[in-house]
Amino acid sequence: MKPLLELKNINYSYHTPDGETKALSNISFTLSTGEFTAVVGPSGCGKSTLLSLIDGLMRPESGELLLNGAPLTDNSSKIGYMLQHDHLFEWRSVYRNILLGAEINGPITPEVKARALDLLDQYGLGQFAGSKPSELSGGMRQRAALIRTLLLDPELLLLDEPFSALDYQTRLKVSDDIGQIIRHSGKTALLVTHDLSEAVSLSDRIIILSQRPAEVVRIVPITFTLENDTPLNRRNAPEFKTYFNEIWKELNKNDQTI
Ligand code: ADP
Repeated sequence: MKPLLELKNINYSYHTPDGETKALSNISFTLSTGEFTAVVGPSGCGKSTLLSLIDGLMRPESGELLLNGAPLTDNSSKIGYMLQHDHLFEWRSVYRNILLGAEINGPITPEVKARALDLLDQYGLGQFAGSKPSELSGGMRQRAALIRTLLLDPELLLLDEPFSALDYQTRLKVSDDIGQIIRHSGKTALLVTHDLSEAVSLSDRIIILSQRPAEVVRIVPITFTLENDTPLNRRNAPEFKTYFNEIWKELNKNDQTI
């Protein structure tokens, strides 16, 4: 099957008055449709830079980025972003917040409105359509932010540390919830996180990056033999610790900072 996204020998450096900082070195990997992939690596290695290149916010210095076999030229509507903060506006109802991305893209058709209400119902926020964001819990707010992105029907979802602003307990529940919604929607997802447990509980593959300039150290396929394969159930499965330790070791192999 043709990959949805292909990165071929991507290099990127920042140029400032103080000099050049090489952030990414020869990064190559592919994402297949429907796959959930996590990228882990030391802080400051180049993970956010990688997402900005995939989102088309920046151009690589060299190398190729292909979406469905065609070069990614600018900010593509086929790519959706989910960030650490939900960026819901308090002066809009939950429903009108969800329509925001679609409004920016053009006039809101009755079909888009119906789909927004349908998604709210489907993901348990139907009764909160008229509520203000402050009336929702942290988890519900993240769910609303995800629905706003899903309404645009992106082919690829980029998740940049989406749970890191939440406290530990909430984080476990919300990542379980959001992970299951993404699986259910069939979307291809690329998650950047510094939390190994989160990466193992959510993904099909983990791409391990080295320290800056980031290179791909290893790509680890993740499979669990669970009847009900959810992020929370994974955390209690025997394979969880094995994957965690394997990736932890790999990350710390070349880490001179500890
Ligand atoms: P991560 O997301 O893995 O923490 P980033 O992609 O944000 O890392 O940054 C990678 C490296 O690139 C950092 O170490 C930083 O020094 C450098 N960097 C990031 N943004 C800029 C910028 N706007 N200008 C100069 N250097 C930058």
